[in-house]
Amino acid sequence: MKRVAVLGATGSIGASALDVIARHPTALRATVLAAGRQVDALVELCRQHRPEHAVIADEAMLGRLRDRLRGAGLSTIAHAGDAALVELVGGDACDTVVAAIVGAAGLPSTLAAARAGKRLLLANKESLVLAGELLMAAAREGGATIVPIDSEHNAIFQCLPDAPARDGLARIILTASGGPFRGRSRASLRDVTVEQAVAHPKWSMGPKISVDSATLMNKGLEVIEAHHLFDVDGDRIQVLVHPQSLVHSLVEFVDGSTLAQLGLPDMRTALAVGFAWPQRIASGVSGLDLLAEGGRLEFEPPDLDAFPCLRLAFDALAAGGTAPAVLNAANEVAVSAFLQRRVGFLSIPAIVEDTLAALPAIPAVSLDALHDADAAARRHASRAVDDRSSA
Ligand code: NAD
Ligand code: MG
Repeated sequence: MKRVAVLGATGSIGASALDVIARHPTALRATVLAAGRQVDALVELCRQHRPEHAVIADEAMLGRLRDRLRGAGLSTIAHAGDAALVELVGGDACDTVVAAIVGAAGLPSTLAAARAGKRLLLANKESLVLAGELLMAAAREGGATIVPIDSEHNAIFQCLPDAPARDGLARIILTASGGPFRGRSRASLRDVTVEQAVAHPKWSMGPKISVDSATLMNKGLEVIEAHHLFDVDGDRIQVLVHPQSLVHSLVEFVDGSTLAQLGLPDMRTALAVGFAWPQRIASGVSGLDLLAEGGRLEFEPPDLDAFPCLRLAFDALAAGGTAPAVLNAANEVAVSAFLQRRVGFLSIPAIVEDTLAALPAIPAVSLDALHDADAAARRHASRAVDDRSSA
């Protein structure tokens, strides 16, 4: 029986993870559920999944969580705050951790799971972008197995699971759906709305990653993520737009072979791989009928003029040091301001570019240095938001 902590339980990945867990009651059990601020949704999940522990990030909500759990007649123990979450993740309440908190807020718990040698189902890509070297080193030292849950990286993991094959790796080809604005010019994106930006054509996801998919920053973060997970430099990572979203990524070897993983766009497949690898378990996702899906697989290059965020991410990876942390933090601030309708869509790449220019990369020697860079970027980007929203 695997004892699973689902971090970000009330989110989109959290729901998919709990769906797969519930299909395998004798093999998988959710023992820890964690969320940011949604007490009622968390208690409802506790009612369904009966975990031993529930954690709410906002410490002011601990009393409410405890009262609601008790009111529902549940014996789930209530906790609050980052420190409590880190302790539970590192302790024996779980052996498997689904890291699906959105944003840099997921780093402490993801790091704790890596250090404690857990099986780490890693959806929280921002933690890799912010502190990829430290996180990968922590996993090596702690003996953790990382299974990437991002569909592209999960595809690459499936094509390239073991170390010997990695010596013959030539290139990674990440596929991108192109998002809701594929084919549009930069000028035509000026007045797009939040509703249009979060309406992803192929995937149903949380609001932040949906906006990232619309700007192509999501693919940029994924390039940096792939660099850390598979130890490849940016010049050996290609991005191809693939509107059908059926080929989740490809791996090319030095002998001319290219392997791809295909499937319907449903994150439960990646999560089932993460729970069971190297075995396979049912995920609730049906097999792929290529004819029913239209019988076509198309590929095109990304438009870096309309979607400069992808270029900014490649540049940040090449600059190294604190640049990816700055990119990520500025993007989180800009996307949040866009979702609050304080700035327009094109302000997202503009704010990220401006912040990267203002805070040149320095070597990232420690977690403290990365946290400082993250904080400085958030301050700079927040001022840029203020300037733009009052203009
Ligand atoms: P979401 O917005 O649906 O859910 C986010 C979850 O994080 C919620 O449960 C929320 O309560 C929790 N949370 C937010 N701030 C928190 C904090 N400070 N402390 C603790 N919990 C906090 O997001 P999502 O779409 O499920 O994405 C989660 C992560 O997975 C992101 O990093 C995203 O990039 C990655 N991811 C998602 C998908 C997808 O299909 N949704 C695909 C690939 C990768
Ligand atoms: Mg992805």
